[in-house]
Amino acid sequence: MTILDVLTVPNPVLSQKCDPVTVFDKELQQLIDDMFETMNDSKGIGLAAPQVGVLMQLFICKTETDRVVAINPKLEYLGDELESEEGCLSIPNILAVVDRRSQVKLTAKDVNGKEFSRVYDDLMAIVIQHEFDHLVGKLITDCPLEIKNVEGDI
Ligand SMILES: [Zn+2]
Repeated sequence: MTILDVLTVPNPVLSQKCDPVTVFDKELQQLIDDMFETMNDSKGIGLAAPQVGVLMQLFICKTETDRVVAINPKLEYLGDELESEEGCLSIPNILAVVDRRSQVKLTAKDVNGKEFSRVYDDLMAIVIQHEFDHLVGKLITDCPLEIKNVEGDI
């Protein structure tokens, strides 16, 4: 596996919309493996393909209890509105407070092209919303409720 370079702002790739994945092959599996390696190395809990320069509708997330690979995802926003304080591997030294929902229903394809649909709560729901936004070129600094500079703290 390979640790990939994570793009940071103001790289214009981070603001672009991603295209659907149409080919589910070994190369896709390799990209996903490399993304997990990269995310773990950066101690992140989510990573979207455009963050490693690939404009595909693909993201991964991992919490202590769960792991998600989502390809060509669709999201239904459920649950309560909440304010979430988030960082992003592509925006170093910044925490942004953004509007999120407490629950989402994710419908997506897995690495084999098989569709699945599942409801996620709490932290995983929030990470999924964050990563989903990356696929439409939206960052936590685009319309934040608050921005905190944490340079030197993390
Ligand atoms: Zn991010």
